[in-house]
Amino acid sequence: MISLTVLGSGSSGNCAVLRSENACLLIDAGLSSRRICQRLEMVGLTVNDLDGILLTHEHGDHTQGLEVFCRVSKAPLFSTSYTQAALRDHFVKSSPTWRLMQTGSVFEFKDLRIECFPVPHDAVDPVGFLICDHESRLGVLSDVGYVPNLIRDRLGGVHTLFMEANYDAILLDEDTRRPWPTKQRISGKHGHLSNDQAAELVEHIAHSGLYQVVLGHLSEDCNHPDIARSRIELALREKAAHARVICADRHAPTPWLEVAMKMLLPV
Ligand SMILES: [Zn+2]
Ligand SMILES: [Zn+2]
Repeated sequence: MISLTVLGSGSSGNCAVLRSENACLLIDAGLSSRRICQRLEMVGLTVNDLDGILLTHEHGDHTQGLEVFCRVSKAPLFSTSYTQAALRDHFVKSSPTWRLMQTGSVFEFKDLRIECFPVPHDAVDPVGFLICDHESRLGVLSDVGYVPNLIRDRLGGVHTLFMEANYDAILLDEDTRRPWPTKQRISGKHGHLSNDQAAELVEHIAHSGLYQVVLGHLSEDCNHPDIARSRIELALREKAAHARVICADRHAPTPWLEVAMKMLLPV
């Protein structure tokens, strides 16, 4: 069974860990290295427990701790070749091992099957992940401007969806601190997902085996966990009212979350 904990998530930094029976992977390294190490410890892990680091894209809020972290971690970095090219020059005091993924490909790693699929976002080659072991399926959808059919199809049947719900459309519209071009970037096709867009995807993929939706990347000024959670709960009401909705915090790790609930799995 795969379990997930989000070490921290928000516009300022994103980092999560998943573990299965045989594998332990970091997803992005957007907190400082020191903070990643502290939070790993808070969830009962050390740097040496990691078997790899999956990278969704090169933006700083997903990679800012990576170079320093790679001085203490020998875990290989899984990224696409374009993302590697965008990041390579940052590695001045560490030389990590790269394991290149082809966008749209599937690969096996220990007891996991990992599929990386392209997502629309203003990075060089951003990807989302579908990560499965023999009994559970986890969808990881970080920064994404909108949800094309390909993503909906990939995420059908997941037991847990970890996805961004970046902003509430009204709060973003009313925000006085962001200039208009920034608002356009955030809400554009290569920006981020609103609560409504996230809800639309959740409604589409909801099924009786969907156990939970973990929301991340919430904007500090233009979203609120209560607003995001209730919007997603509404989207689940018809087909997966039993599913729980958890908002990841920027300041502290979530508990370990089992990706599927055993009683919902087919025998
Ligand atoms: Zn990004
Ligand atoms: Zn981001």
